[in-house]
Amino acid sequence: MSELFRTYNELEQLVLKTYRSPDIQTLRRAYDVAQRAHAGEVRLTGHPVITHPVAVAYRLAQMGLHLNVVIAGILHDVIEDSEMTNESLQEQFGTDVASLVESVTKLKHSINYRGEERYAENMRKMFLAMASDVRVVFMKFADRLHNLETLYGQPKHKQERIARESLEIYAPIAGRLGMSEIKGELEDGSFAYLLPKEYERMKNIMDIKVREKGAYVSRIIDQIEKLLSKTSMEDFQVHGRVKRLFSLYKKLNKYQGDLSKIYDLIAIRIIVSDVEECYMALGLLHQHWRPLPGRIKDYIAQPKPNGYQSLHTTVFTENGEIVEFQIRTLEMHELAEYGVAAHWRYKEGTHKPVRNTQWMEELAQIQKELQSKKNFMEQLEIMKIDVFKDRIFVFTPQGDVIDLPEGATPIDFAYAIHTEVGNKCTAVRINEVMRNLDTTLFSGDIVEIITDKNRRGPNPDWMKFAKTRHARAKIKDATHHTVKGWFAEVLKGREKAKK
Ligand code: MN
Repeated sequence: MSELFRTYNELEQLVLKTYRSPDIQTLRRAYDVAQRAHAGEVRLTGHPVITHPVAVAYRLAQMGLHLNVVIAGILHDVIEDSEMTNESLQEQFGTDVASLVESVTKLKHSINYRGEERYAENMRKMFLAMASDVRVVFMKFADRLHNLETLYGQPKHKQERIARESLEIYAPIAGRLGMSEIKGELEDGSFAYLLPKEYERMKNIMDIKVREKGAYVSRIIDQIEKLLSKTSMEDFQVHGRVKRLFSLYKKLNKYQGDLSKIYDLIAIRIIVSDVEECYMALGLLHQHWRPLPGRIKDYIAQPKPNGYQSLHTTVFTENGEIVEFQIRTLEMHELAEYGVAAHWRYKEGTHKPVRNTQWMEELAQIQKELQSKKNFMEQLEIMKIDVFKDRIFVFTPQGDVIDLPEGATPIDFAYAIHTEVGNKCTAVRINEVMRNLDTTLFSGDIVEIITDKNRRGPNPDWMKFAKTRHARAKIKDATHHTVKGWFAEVLKGREKAKK
């Protein structure tokens, strides 16, 4: 759990410790810019606003993300809160930092729009849209975590909305991205506000258990360390981990409140150097203690869908105590804690983030689920992995997300909403400014189509800038339709003449 607030100095210390020869000059410059942008502003908690972006940047540095992401974290609210423009950010901090800040700002705008019941769906889609740069999602998580930590300053209705959003939208996305550490914090942070009584109850259970079993578990840990040091294994760590409160709450519900069925309230983690040592450690444990039947899980040979790998086993120890073990390599451990973010982490010696495409497949999978749920199956072709690269996601004024191909125009948008909206379309407002109908749309734009019910149909010229097959077909159709209608009249007339 992080501290609520961090000073800039603490951030700088952490950066110096984490990164090799980091560009402290730029970090400090970002801080100065942010401080000027937020000068004199105070959060509802009573703290100066600058404490928030510093805390967010600190978290991003803790996650070990590349320094540009940390710098963007300090700057993430400046466009919103000051006269600062994207161009100026670009000049001062380069295109990468500027585009990160811009994407986070856009994501925030979409949140202000109320689509009520479709809200969760929209947000998920928006995340996916922005996933063309997954670092933006990490920044959004860091931002949300700090807002949750300081939620006590907000009025009650806002506490509830933010907590619900975090639990229903952010946490599942973190989970699907394999970021269990972040997911757990998001869940517990929201749980406290959504079900305060249950939260307290779970907290009491854990407090009692930790007091009861803490000393015992420490002894077991010592014992294992001794066992392991007698083998050829050299690099290993053994530590206890306490179950998270929301996770306990869910499990208790599953077992009808029977606490005795939950064996992993406190588990012991063994981290070793390679896969072979994982199995060696497992063998060692089983030689020593009898495993509980049916509780040995080999997630190394068969990883969980989100990529999680570890060996799990539950054993009876000396005095009939039941203890769960999780055995993994350091790499598996990092992946389990940070998920896809692990691939974006700064690695000593390499100045480029290590990329891996597994998370993209993962996102494509979520996208697939969303689509089958919402009957978007007609869009099967966008199931390609590069789906996010050439799609844009724009909003109706009500907050609904419409996804379109890159280069799409308001005409495509209008027909995506409804054929009649397309046919009667006369003008468009983009981000509250009147624009031409051939204007290119960009992700995050809020588009309002102005219709004229007296309009007879689409302008054939629209074919020049309609990009989607759907819009083009409808425009053709509407023109065709009149011909067909006229044709039909002629044919009918002939029939009559025959008689
Ligand atoms: Mn923020």
